[in-house]
Amino acid sequence: MNPLPDAASSSVGTGQGPAPVTVIGLGAMGSALAAALLERGHPTTVWNRSAEKAAPLVERGARPAATAGAAIAASPLVIACVLDQTALDTVLADASGSLAGKTLVNLTSGSPEQARATAAWAGSRGADYLDGAIMTTPPGVGDPRMMILFSGPRAVFEAHRPALSAFGDPLYLGADPGLASLFDAALLGLMWSTMTGWLHGTALVGAEAAPATDFTAVAIRWLSAVTGFLSTYAPQVDAGHYPGDDATVDVQIAAIGHLIHASEASGVDTALPELLRATMERASARGHGRDSYASLIEVLRKPEGGA
Ligand code: NAP
Repeated sequence: MNPLPDAASSSVGTGQGPAPVTVIGLGAMGSALAAALLERGHPTTVWNRSAEKAAPLVERGARPAATAGAAIAASPLVIACVLDQTALDTVLADASGSLAGKTLVNLTSGSPEQARATAAWAGSRGADYLDGAIMTTPPGVGDPRMMILFSGPRAVFEAHRPALSAFGDPLYLGADPGLASLFDAALLGLMWSTMTGWLHGTALVGAEAAPATDFTAVAIRWLSAVTGFLSTYAPQVDAGHYPGDDATVDVQIAAIGHLIHASEASGVDTALPELLRATMERASARGHGRDSYASLIEVLRKPEGGA
């Protein structure tokens, strides 16, 4: 969505050359973030609770800070990436006096409520705040194909976009700081559903001695067709109207019966397709049998019933 600049770009802070950035938290992800900044030439200050984790980054040119407060004081832009909200609260409580006038970008995983509370807390200390979610693992940090989600004030995001582009493709979601965490949770749910469906299929064809690699080559092609279905169904969901002119829920209830039968016959776990069939059957029972698969959204939104 937002193309990566050709080279390390200037940003808020210096007016020339890559902007100074501080990274708080040097676990697997924080270290990757700091390394990506160093790679782009950003003067990078680092701090971690266990100081020894800074050593490989210092060898590459990072400046170690003695305390979290000193790290925050060193740069206008502060990236925080620690284990969880409890760890973040601990670090920030000790360093809150340094935050005034800074921009805090929190890439620690958490809930939308936690993001909103941290945004309010940072604002009360005179800091701008962006919340973020990293949609890759540490080896993918710095790859412009990887999405990094951000939410918070647009002007703050735009001011720091050049530095944030060091991590991947920065995507701005909106002013509500909770949006990045919300999208993160929803996207991880999609990933787990997809990967478990793939593994179920792998187990099924594997029962007939088909290698996972053979099935996966076909599965990847199938996923590109599935992305087309999503594009067709998203406007139906937004409109609340689900014309079943491609494949109805009732047709798919019959089809998933074959998957459950094949799984049982091979001794493969049926819990996942049983769950899917039950959801389809609930949609059908509510009058969506002749509608498209997108009508299952009604069951997911109102599991206790309703129109
Ligand atoms: P990690 O390798 O386990 O590192 C955890 C970091 O948190 C370390 O820097 C650790 O410091 C620090 N920490 C833990 N408790 C602390 C406390 N009470 N006070 C101060 N610092 C504390 O984890 P990670 O993989 O880097 O993940 C960091 C964040 O990124 C998490 O929120 C994770 O969900 C998110 N994330 C990770 C990935 C991934 O693939 N790894 C992907 C997306 C998002 P010490 O070194 O002193 O223990």
